[in-house]
This record gives sequence, structure tokens and C-alpha cells, in this order.
Amino acid sequence: MEDKKRHIAILGSTGSIGTQALEVLNQHPDIFELEVLTAHSNAELLIKQALKYQPNAVVISDESRYREVNDALFDAGIKVYAGEEALTQVVEMESIDMVLTALVGYAGLKPTLAAIRAGKNIALANKETLVVAGDLVTKMAQEKGVNVFPVDSEHSAIFQCLVGEFHNPIEKIYLTASGGPFRGKTRDELMQVTRAQALKHPNWVMGAKITIDSASLMNKGLEVIEAKWLFNLKNEQIDVIVHPQSIIHSIVQFTDGSMKAQMGLPDMKLPIQFALGYPQRLKSDFERFNFANYSSFTFEQPDKETFRNLQLAFDALEKGGNAACVLNAANEVAVDAFLHDKIGFLAMSDLIEHCLQKVAYIERPEYEDYVQTDRETREMAKAYLN
Ligand code: NAD
Ligand code: MG
Repeated sequence: MEDKKRHIAILGSTGSIGTQALEVLNQHPDIFELEVLTAHSNAELLIKQALKYQPNAVVISDESRYREVNDALFDAGIKVYAGEEALTQVVEMESIDMVLTALVGYAGLKPTLAAIRAGKNIALANKETLVVAGDLVTKMAQEKGVNVFPVDSEHSAIFQCLVGEFHNPIEKIYLTASGGPFRGKTRDELMQVTRAQALKHPNWVMGAKITIDSASLMNKGLEVIEAKWLFNLKNEQIDVIVHPQSIIHSIVQFTDGSMKAQMGLPDMKLPIQFALGYPQRLKSDFERFNFANYSSFTFEQPDKETFRNLQLAFDALEKGGNAACVLNAANEVAVDAFLHDKIGFLAMSDLIEHCLQKVAYIERPEYEDYVQTDRETREMAKAYLN
């Protein structure tokens, strides 16, 4: 009998998105087959996941953990690979239909390009890849006839609004933002905020990097750039609106003025499942929205003067070329420094602005230019911190 199941690789299976994706797969064993799991250094969880879900192969990026993982999975007949290169090789496996990119940061770029080159459809959670090199990624996807399905909740919302409308032009999109834990605070108040406060998001539980990005509104800035590439939009067609309840996940406005929105409780399992299962809507028992719990939805303009990261992202988008790659690399260094209590919350924007001004501008970057820009920006950012 022909195997009609969708064969999935999850890059970054030990993270917030990765573990939720495994729950989704587990609910639909008739639809999905797991091929590959990967993790950066969390060998314990990777081993546990592999023994439970029985993939064909796993990759542990941190080579010093290879022996431990291999010893644990050898008897189960699960192939174990280690190192950065293995990540870009494993996505080429013939049996894989779709790759979920649930790893965090610039590290996602190379394996995502490798997966597209090998003709695999992508369920994209790793927004940094599109921020860094959206032009290369979308161009290669087009050439290879590969689909890039959004996992990010806002972009999934837009995609869901577009189903049945693919031939109708978009006039505008509104990306909704919760505003994060510091909505309404002044710059003076933001001087004092701590890592622990920034790590407490009001509506979502996520990995550390995106949680800090959500507090600084950089996450929304990255999502603006992500939206441009996913939906082929002009900069002026993208707007951000703060909606603190996080029930409306984004809105598309069409050329007749009609606006479609997608709603639901904040739960990443829904957009993960929609991306993996498209075009089907699979049954789920996720908690349903209840009107009795919400007497109103509110909307406000984002405060780009207080939360400068959002403005910096719009500036990078406007500048084009390698500017968004600089923005991303500087932000990764800044978030890491903030998480290690090396800089304050507001200093993150200073560092990013410094790099955006200083790193050499390249108007039409090739892949190697992005690699060089990322490296140069990280060096400059670290020098600025010392
Ligand atoms: P996380 O930190 O919880 O997990 C990251 C995963 O990537 C882990 O499995 C880790 O082992 C792996 N990883 C980390 N660094 C790596 C490296 N250098 N090389 C290879 N693997 C590496 O992150 P997350 O919150 O699950 O986010 C993953 C991606 O999804 C991010 O790009 C984020 O912006 C995006 N996203 C997350 C959410 C969410 O709710 N968590 C929502 C929307 C988008
Ligand atoms: Mg999002």
C-alpha cells in the first residue's frame, strides 16, 4: 500500500515550538510520520523524545554530547549524527516531506536553505531566517516549487485569512502585538526592569530569546520583515496594532476594504498544526475561546519611541540590502547580553543602532555576504560591549 502519511523532520525539537509540535504529531499518528529530531545541546530531552517518538534519525549539534546520545539510542536502531554540518545534511533525507524549522536564531538559515534546495516543504517557525535573508529564501523556494508555511501565529492568521483568496490582492495587513509585559511603561521605568520581569510574558510561554524580543517589541519588528517576505508585500502595506488580549492574531485588508481576521486563544499548537496539516484543518481538543471571559477587545498604536527596537526594525526594512541581517545579528548579541545581566533593557537598542550605522551596507547581498555581515556585526557588537 502506498504510504500517504506526511513525513516530518523537526529542527529544534527540544524547544518550546518543537515540544508542542511533537504533541500535535502525537495526536495524529494516521497523518504524520516522524523522521528526524534535532537539538542543540539538550541531550537528555532529545534522548527521551527519540525513545518515545521513534524517529529514523536524530542530530545533536553539540558534538561533545554525541557519545551519550548514540549510546542511548543505538539499541533502538535510531541513527545519531552530531555537529552543525549534520543538520544541513539530514534535511536532505529522501524520506522527508516537510521540515519544521523550530530552532532559534541565525543558526536556522543554512539548514533551511539546504531543505529548500532538497525540495522539502517548510513549516517555518524560525523567523530569523527570513529576517536575515528573506530574498534568498523566497527566491530559492520559488525556483524549487517549495511551499513555506508560516508557523508564527500572526503569519498563520494572515495565511488562514488568505485561504480561498490567493488571487485577490492584499491592500494591507495589520500584525497584532500583545505589547508584552512592559506595555505602557516609560523609558525611565524601562531603565529599571530586570531579566526576570522581561521573561514573564502576559499571554504566551516561549523560549527565552523570543520572550525578550516580545518585551522589547523587536519580535514584532522581526515579524514585520517576516511578513514582507512571506506574503510578498511592500513595506507600506504592513502595519502593527497593539491588541493586549492576544485573541485576534492578525488581520488582512483587501482592495474592497473588507477586513478578515483570525481569532482564537493564544496557543501555538494551532498554527503549528495548521502549517503541518495544510490544506486540511485537523480536529483538535485545544481549549476553545469563550466570550464570557472577554468583555472587550482593545487596540492601540505601538509606542515606537519608548520601544525603539520596533522603529529600528522598520528602519532596517526601509534600508533593505543587508540591513535586516545586521539588525538580527546585533539583536541576538544584545538579547544574550541582557539575559546574562551584562546590559540593561534599553541598552539593547543602543547596541543595535550602533551596528546598523557602522556595518558596511551591501545593496544586493549574496549568501556569502550575509554570512560575512552576520560575523562582522557580531564582532562589532561584542567590541561595543567591552
Ligand atoms: P527555544 O529556545 O525554546 O528552542 C530552540 C530550539 O532550537 C531548541 O531545540 C534548541 O536545542 C535548538 N537550538 C538552539 N540553538 C541552536 C543552534 N545554534 N543550532 C541548532 N539548534 C539550536 O525557542 P522557541 O521559543 O521554540 O523558538 C523557536 C523559533 O520559533 C524561534 O525562531 C522563534 O522566534 C519562533 N517562534 C516561537 C514561538 C513560541 O511560542 N515559542 C512563537 C512564534 C515563533
Ligand atoms: Mg508571533
